[in-house]
Amino acid sequence: MNPYWLEEEAPVRASPTHDGQVDVAIVGAGVTGCAAALRLAEAGLRVRVHDERGVAEGASGRNGGFALRGGASRYDIARETYGREQAAGLWHWTEHALDSMAELAGDSLRRTDSLRLAADEEERDEIRGEYEAMREDGIDAEWVDEPADSRFHGAILHPGDGALQPARFVRRLAARSADAGAEIREHDRVDDLGALAAEQVIVATDGYGHGLVPELADLIWPTRGQVIVSRPLDRVLYDKPHYARQGFDYWQQLPDGRVLLGGFRDVSIMDELTDVEETTPTIQASLERFLGELIGEEPQITHRWAGIFGLTQDMLPLVGPVPGRDGVWVAGGYSGHGNVLGFACGELVAGAVLGDASSPQLQLFDPARFF
Ligand SMILES: Cc1cc2nc3c(=O)[nH]c(=O)nc-3n(C[C@H](O)[C@H](O)[C@H](O)COP(=O)(O)OP(=O)(O)OC[C@H]3O[C@@H](n4cnc5c(N)ncnc54)[C@H](O)[C@@H]3O)c2cc1C
Repeated sequence: MNPYWLEEEAPVRASPTHDGQVDVAIVGAGVTGCAAALRLAEAGLRVRVHDERGVAEGASGRNGGFALRGGASRYDIARETYGREQAAGLWHWTEHALDSMAELAGDSLRRTDSLRLAADEEERDEIRGEYEAMREDGIDAEWVDEPADSRFHGAILHPGDGALQPARFVRRLAARSADAGAEIREHDRVDDLGALAAEQVIVATDGYGHGLVPELADLIWPTRGQVIVSRPLDRVLYDKPHYARQGFDYWQQLPDGRVLLGGFRDVSIMDELTDVEETTPTIQASLERFLGELIGEEPQITHRWAGIFGLTQDMLPLVGPVPGRDGVWVAGGYSGHGNVLGFACGELVAGAVLGDASSPQLQLFDPARFF
């Protein structure tokens, strides 16, 4: 079945066309590619975006719609792994990115806050540790001792997070980029970067396009996520995005009353390390069972889909020049956390192409760490 988000009709968008060589070619018209295109086109560069599908038809139109700050790891783990200054810097950087998204998003982003729940006592201790680390480092968060849903054992409320209609947001970004002069070529597959008529190339394919840059094939692993959506309910059960079990399960109620639920990847985790964009009976059954518990009735499912995201070893994206490849840049590998990070990293890689190497995130995300 079709992703719910993509059912909304895409607005008609006039895209300019450029003759011959451009300054920058971008492969991928998801949130990363469109954010990069906007920044570069606004800086006056000739930009061409290629996508084998339509705008936002990869993970950017197939995700859970959670617009969360931070990285893919828990904050306390991030702090332990790459240091307090870097971790706190990353969290604040994504908070700024969310604010910039809000300026562009219109009604595709609602700043609802988000709720990170503990499914058992062990997870409660873990997220309590995360909460304390955040507070120590000046990151705004609230502890919820007894969540309204009594099956859960505590929660962190993340102020400022949001619920996104991701396809609408990215289509808007694409339209803004086209207005700024970027050419957007949909249904245009790229098989050889060397054949692109461009000075510089940005690869913004996240979990798709595996093998397009062979050096990255072992660094960004395609990983499948699955989602279901119920028919609209006549009552409000969830007023903000909720997630639990290390983020494996995530759900939110949409403005029309439907409940969207994704996750349960850990039910058959090895099978989900794939770029085959198909739902599977095992995970769909787990999702349906849990959705029934969440809404207190036999769920009537109207939408099911799968999407692919890019997972990395250290759960940090790769953003910057690809070592040994002159003029080739990458931004991807958000490890399932790319709505805000993808936007921020699209802008970041564009800034780097324009010669701005000052961001500490460029060091943290440097692809060279794996070479
Ligand atoms: C099921 C699911 C749920 C998720 N939930 C969330 C969530 O709630 N919150 C969150 O922050 N993140 C979530 N994510 C992750 C998030 O969706 C992604 O990290 C983000 O959308 C990546 O954006 P992108 O633009 O980098 O890549 P994509 O949106 O995947 O775009 C890549 C594009 O590259 C194109 N492409 C690939 N190869 C080629 C080629 N050779 N030639 C031309 N075009 C090519 C593809 O067609 C695709 O359109 C989820 C992901 C999935 C799959």
